[in-house]
Amino acid sequence: MLEKENEIIFLGTGTSQGVPPIGCTHPVCLSDDPRDKRLRASVMIKYHGKTILIDCGPDFRQQMLREDMDYVDAILVTHEHNDHIIGLDDMRAVYFKSHKVPVIYSIPRVLNDIKVRFPYAFTKFKYPGVPTFDLQEIEPNKPFFVEGIEVLSLHVLHGGLPILGFRIGGLAYITDVKIIPPETLKLLEGLDILVIDALRQKKTHHSHLLLDEAIQYGKQIGAKQTYFTHISHNLGFYKEVEKTLPEGMHLAYDQLRLKF
Ligand SMILES: [Zn+2]
Ligand SMILES: [Zn+2]
Ligand SMILES: [Zn+2]
Repeated sequence: MLEKENEIIFLGTGTSQGVPPIGCTHPVCLSDDPRDKRLRASVMIKYHGKTILIDCGPDFRQQMLREDMDYVDAILVTHEHNDHIIGLDDMRAVYFKSHKVPVIYSIPRVLNDIKVRFPYAFTKFKYPGVPTFDLQEIEPNKPFFVEGIEVLSLHVLHGGLPILGFRIGGLAYITDVKIIPPETLKLLEGLDILVIDALRQKKTHHSHLLLDEAIQYGKQIGAKQTYFTHISHNLGFYKEVEKTLPEGMHLAYDQLRLKF
C-alpha cells in the first residue's frame, strides 16, 4: 500500500483558557499525564507539500517551538475569538525567516475583527517590524484554493455565531461548534478523519458540543476516525475518557500526529 503523505499535527487541543488554566487545582489539571495538558486549539496540516495552519491562538509561538516548525504557507481562521487569532502577531517570526507574507482566509466579519485586533498591521505608515497580513475573503460552504490546494469551507454554528470549519481532502476540522446545519452535513461524506469540538461531559453549553453530542454527530457523519478537541478539564482524564468512547472515536491530545 502507498504510504499516506498527508498529516495533521495537533498543536493544541484545549479550550479557551487551556488546560490547566492559571492556578487551577481541578484533579485533571494536576494530572501527570502529558495528554491532560492542552494548549489552545490549533492544528497544522501538511497536504501535498503545503503547510496550512488552522487558527493561531495565544500559544502559537510555544506550539511552533515545541514542534520545531518555522514555516506556514497559509492560515485558515475558523472565527474571531481570542483563543483562535491572538497569536497572529507572532507570524512575524515566520515571515522574517521565509519572507512570505501569510495569507489569512476567513469570512469578512472575522477578517474585520483581525483588523480591529491588530490595527498597527494595517496602517499606511507602519512602525518597522510590525506584521503584514494578506486577508482573503471566503464564503461559507464553498470551495476555494490555497496554494493550488482545494479547501472546502464549512458553515457551522458556534451558538448564535456562524463560523467556519474546513475540509481538506479526507479530513474535516470543526471546532467551537454547537450545530452543524443539514446542508453542511452533506459536505462531510466519505471522511477519513473528522476532528470535532467536545468541551466537557455534563452541564450543557450554549456554544460548544458536550461529549455525548459530539459522539452523536460523529456517528451521523461516519468518518473512519473521529477525534475530539477544544477540551476542558471537565471532560475528565484522557486515559479514563478514552476507554469509554465508541469504536473509531478518540480524544485528541497535543502533539498527536495522524496521517491521511
Ligand atoms: Zn475556542
Ligand atoms: Zn482545571
Ligand atoms: Zn469560540
